[in-house]
Amino acid sequence: MSYRQVLLDCVAGAFDLVLPTHCAGCGAAGVRLCAVCGLALQSVVATRARPDPAPDGFPATFTAGQYEGVLREVIVGWKDGGRPDLGQDLAFALRVALAAAISALEPRESSTICLVPAPSSPASVRARGYRPVADLCRSVMRQVPAKIAPEWSTR
Ligand SMILES: [Zn+2]
Repeated sequence: MSYRQVLLDCVAGAFDLVLPTHCAGCGAAGVRLCAVCGLALQSVVATRARPDPAPDGFPATFTAGQYEGVLREVIVGWKDGGRPDLGQDLAFALRVALAAAISALEPRESSTICLVPAPSSPASVRARGYRPVADLCRSVMRQVPAKIAPEWSTR
């Protein structure tokens, strides 16, 4: 566990003393993530995603889910709701999508896997003081074996 995570856990613990905890997915009282919402996040299935229209040469792209339901609520709570404790749950979903991308590579293919965080607006970066999605991508990348370590891109 990193120093940062320990600090975030301490802050979250202190926060829970002041305000009651609630499920980030459905709002149920007394839990940070209820069993139903936790299972929903643990059950994400990576799928290929493609914008419509897609530019020529658009690479194979994977997502851990649609931006809706429990996943959306957890992302919003994590990014803008003062719930940094949810980062570990979102890291799991990102690892699922990354594993799908790695599995889709042809054995002799020399393609590069890029994690591309959706960019935060300048106003959001100023308000938060950091880039949560970029930080999440960096965190997940550090867990990938070096021989298949993806590149990180801000493009
Ligand atoms: Zn819930």
